[in-house]
Amino acid sequence: MSERKAEKDKVVYALSSPSRCHNCDRRLDIGEIVKLREENDDKEAYCRTCSQLDKLEMLPAGNAVITRLARKYSSVSFAIVKWSEIWKCYERQGTLVEPAAIDKAESESGIKLAKREHCK
Ligand SMILES: [Zn+2]
Repeated sequence: MSERKAEKDKVVYALSSPSRCHNCDRRLDIGEIVKLREENDDKEAYCRTCSQLDKLEMLPAGNAVITRLARKYSSVSFAIVKWSEIWKCYERQGTLVEPAAIDKAESESGIKLAKREHCK
């Protein structure tokens, strides 16, 4: 059995309303991935660049095989969640992993993802 990650996924957030990065003051649109830090009841958002997440690629939820393999091959993975106003809870949007891990997951499973974030 391969080594299991003791830690469960760290969490990052997809914005449900526009915001600004607390560090670089960049405008953040709905759906952008940020890290939130809570300071005295205030939530501070940090953009992907400032959170050093810009090297990671977003893997949309929906393909369990790819997600499982990519998480296995990636040395870091973050669960992406978004606040749902309708359900009043966080919904999982996908996973943030290393692009190379997605490449490996694709070739191992034989599944090609239709749209890759880093292939624009
Ligand atoms: Zn920033």
